Amino acid sequence: MKHKFPVIFARSGLLILFLALMISLPLMGCSKKHKSSRGAVPATGTPGGTGTGTGTGTGGGGNGGGGNPGDANELDLSWTVKEDTSQADMEYMVGRIKTYANNFWIGCEGQAYLRDQTLSCGSSGGNVVIDSVKGPMKQPPAMCSFGGGQWTIWLSTGEIASHGFLHEIGHGWVGPFSSEEYNCMNQGAGVCIQAAMYGGGEGFNKWCDTENCVSHQECWTKIQATHSWAHPGPGGTSPTCNVTIQ
Ligand SMILES: [Zn+2]
Ligand SMILES: [Zn+2]
Repeated sequence: MKHKFPVIFARSGLLILFLALMISLPLMGCSKKHKSSRGAVPATGTPGGTGTGTGTGTGGGGNGGGGNPGDANELDLSWTVKEDTSQADMEYMVGRIKTYANNFWIGCEGQAYLRDQTLSCGSSGGNVVIDSVKGPMKQPPAMCSFGGGQWTIWLSTGEIASHGFLHEIGHGWVGPFSSEEYNCMNQGAGVCIQAAMYGGGEGFNKWCDTENCVSHQECWTKIQATHSWAHPGPGGTSPTCNVTIQ
């Protein structure tokens, strides 16, 4: 049994349109042969930051790096771009992964980090599978699927903002959250990653707690039960995220 947990991004003006579409259409994604029983609810707002946009260069700033991980949990993930990809775009994707890593560290409040990552192309066999480094944002733009005790994150494009990756790894590992919390949008508190995206996505990197949750999940309660992390955690500078192109 697989569950898919899409995070939906929609332009605010198209909210109703996307709502209608997502109710009526099957979900798209890397595991089409298993239809999800779980519906999708669209976000309000806009996709927000996408690093350097259509960009050249490094994929977004704020990579941090160099901090001491202490006893934080490390994740060594394999990332795969489905299509054959130029060296320049692979290097761009390295920058994107480092941006995700920095925000992941912030979201986990210094208690988990992306350590040694591999990036390859031309297959779909990774922990994180990307359709295309600079391809179009699809609907849904990202998903997390489960099967055989494993989770796999699918990103439609490497230009997806950090929020997209964080939301899916929230489902896959951080909670892991098996339900959606699309409406937990407390902008003043900067929560919640498990909410649908409403803008500010690149630096949108906090899970909600009993104080600031405006929906139902109080994500940090679940996170603490799963990982025995502190909240607030120690924070600090993110450790270096090594990304090796294979
Ligand atoms: Zn939450
Ligand atoms: Zn919440």
